[in-house]
Amino acid sequence: MSFVFDPPPQASVAVAQSSVRFPVRRIFCVGRNYAAHAREMGNDPDREPPFFFTKPADAVIDSPCTVPYPPLTQDLHYEIELVVAIGKGGADIAPDAVMDHIWGAGVGIDLTRRDLQAEAKKMGRPWDWAKAFDLSAPMSPIVPLIDVPSLETGRIWLAVNDEIRQDADIADLIWPVRDHVAYLSRAMTLAPGDLIMTGTPAGVGAVRPGDVMTGGVDGIGEIEVTISDRG
Ligand code: MN
Repeated sequence: MSFVFDPPPQASVAVAQSSVRFPVRRIFCVGRNYAAHAREMGNDPDREPPFFFTKPADAVIDSPCTVPYPPLTQDLHYEIELVVAIGKGGADIAPDAVMDHIWGAGVGIDLTRRDLQAEAKKMGRPWDWAKAFDLSAPMSPIVPLIDVPSLETGRIWLAVNDEIRQDADIADLIWPVRDHVAYLSRAMTLAPGDLIMTGTPAGVGAVRPGDVMTGGVDGIGEIEVTISDRG
């Protein structure tokens, strides 16, 4: 097969303790999946089924990394999230079968232009400009499932300049991994290489150039992202 120009490089994320990389196909993100975060954003956490938005595959960048303060925003926010990596595709996956489709897990930060998101919500517009910008998905190395102690419980935390801002447990997910992956697979066929950012706990906030974010999920990994001046 030939193309009118060279196809883009395959987006990928590091794999823990390996030189082999995880190829990224799509990035799905769950909205409002922790009750305390839904409340802090002014929503009722009890009423809604899970909903999803996406980022482009090449929004990923390996941790540790430096991300320039992105354009168009004055309110860049961090959101620490457990990330699930799909290794085997499928549609209409039953909750009990979800683990058979998961290759591994990692830790990501769903960088968000909160001011553009607020405007999109107000205007009834899509979230893409708030969520799907360049380098908006820093990721820790992906840990193979066999080395993941649990996708059901474990501390999830984020600090800015060593000050803890988010501190929760993935046991607090409103829609746990097995349920939201099953739900997503009813809407579209999942494929190897899909990443799912599973939602962020309470405590989101702004970062400025010079800030260093560190975070992690116990037993799965840690992430470190520095924000530099606007590019
Ligand atoms: Mn998020």
